[in-house]
Amino acid sequence: MKISEMLAKKRTISFEVFPPKQESGDMDRLQKTLLRVKELKPDFISVTFGAMGNTRRDTAKIASFIKTIGVEPLAHITGGPCTPEDVDGTVSELLGGGVENILALRGDKPVAYEAEYCKYFKHATDLMQYLHRFKESGRLDFGAACYPEGHIESNTLAEDLRHMKEKQDAGADFFITQLFYDNNYYYRLVSEARRAGITAPIIPGIMPLVNPKSVKRITAMCGAAIPLDFRSMLEMYQDDENLLHEIGLNFACYQIMDLIARGAPGIHIYMMNNAQIAESIHSRLENVFGKLF
Ligand code: FAD
Repeated sequence: MKISEMLAKKRTISFEVFPPKQESGDMDRLQKTLLRVKELKPDFISVTFGAMGNTRRDTAKIASFIKTIGVEPLAHITGGPCTPEDVDGTVSELLGGGVENILALRGDKPVAYEAEYCKYFKHATDLMQYLHRFKESGRLDFGAACYPEGHIESNTLAEDLRHMKEKQDAGADFFITQLFYDNNYYYRLVSEARRAGITAPIIPGIMPLVNPKSVKRITAMCGAAIPLDFRSMLEMYQDDENLLHEIGLNFACYQIMDLIARGAPGIHIYMMNNAQIAESIHSRLENVFGKLF
């Protein structure tokens, strides 16, 4: 089923996984994780795509597995590291596995290979234009990424919004946001996007911050602001792993409850291949909302 059709009917709940490193047993572990997450009845599960294109086959394989267990997959494709032949190969594997939704991305430019990167697909919109025939024939729905705090390479939010509108014009049916910890950035993005003529649903992406070591990594990766009260708590309890885990999960649920109360069209959870994170958040939300999703 197309994700845009789901969004037209209900608020979605979805999770994101990434292809594991190529070590024996990892793929089995991920499959077991996916079978557990399936029990939560998510509307879809997305699978990331390596920035260097190296997990291409695994992304397609995992997306096809998700389809076989009865959940709708959303396969990411990053155009940056790919040739048109790579993209053709990926799409044909995805279509063969019954995948109907892709998240079209550029990918993060690796520092050492910047010149070579994006040789064929400079931006997410180039990838969507290249794949336009699949959209026109109704075989694929397109999602795209957006950035509540602005993309790290953009000078202003207005510049980013202009490119977000181009993504919609190139066929994006919905957007999923970069992670954020201050919901005000999401609300600002939605209101500015509507003013810029972007009408597609904007699904907030939530990554529970359950490990203090992630704070620096996340800030460096995407510049996400961490509210002072949350940051203070993380610092105060940094030596108590279990307590931090609970604080991170509760904060994510607080964010989600606020987002639902204010009308977010869906919730996408970056679950870091950890079924227990998905289950803990899901059960907390069920306690609050019952069968809301
Ligand atoms: P683009 O849309 O190409 O944007 C990149 C920059 O260029 C932005 O600053 C934008 O404003 C600007 N821009 C866009 N179009 C134009 C244009 N026509 N002319 C000039 N400037 C333009 N990375 C992975 O490697 N694998 C993944 O699976 C993955 N999944 C992700 C999922 C989500 C929901 C999100 C939010 C990000 C994901 N990323 C992933 C990270 C993403 O690849 C990076 O954020 C990347 O730097 C930008 O990708 P994009 O598709 O937004 O690129």
